[in-house]
Amino acid sequence: MTKAPSKTGVVDASTLDPNFKYEVAGRPGGEHIARCFACASCTLSCPVSEKTPAYSPRKFVHMILLGMKEEVLSSDLILHCLNCYRCQVHCPQDVQFTRVMEVLRDMAVEQGYAPPELLPALEKIDADMIDERRKKIEALVSKLGKPVPHK
Ligand code: SF4
Ligand code: SF4
Repeated sequence: MTKAPSKTGVVDASTLDPNFKYEVAGRPGGEHIARCFACASCTLSCPVSEKTPAYSPRKFVHMILLGMKEEVLSSDLILHCLNCYRCQVHCPQDVQFTRVMEVLRDMAVEQGYAPPELLPALEKIDADMIDERRKKIEALVSKLGKPVPHK
């Protein structure tokens, strides 16, 4: 699914798809994509961006608006979103980037950039993560004793 980035970092205008932003905006969850004014609050609040600097919600929105369809839909990075909604809560323009990510994943599968097994596999990873967290919290509570309620 990953595409090698351009060595120069220069965008080849002939590969851009000017309809990409309209495709995204035409789907439930993508309607507000053009409201972005590139403030970067989404990226600054994103826990994935903190650990993986190449992952940037602001950059994704910019790439969508530019028409970089192939680069976006073929990128493994669109799988890294945790659906935590932090970017969405911090966005002054209500772009709703968490929902945009869902749109991108759906489009990647529907348009052949990613295999159909991808979406159920991601759901399984999310369910496993919740399970793992619950087990760790139960182990912590059992080690430390029952938490004392704050007064
Ligand atoms: S927080 Fe909203 S307006 Fe700011 S860069 Fe992100 S998507 Fe755009
Ligand atoms: S929902 Fe996804 S993109 Fe938004 S802050 Fe959470 S991990 Fe980052």
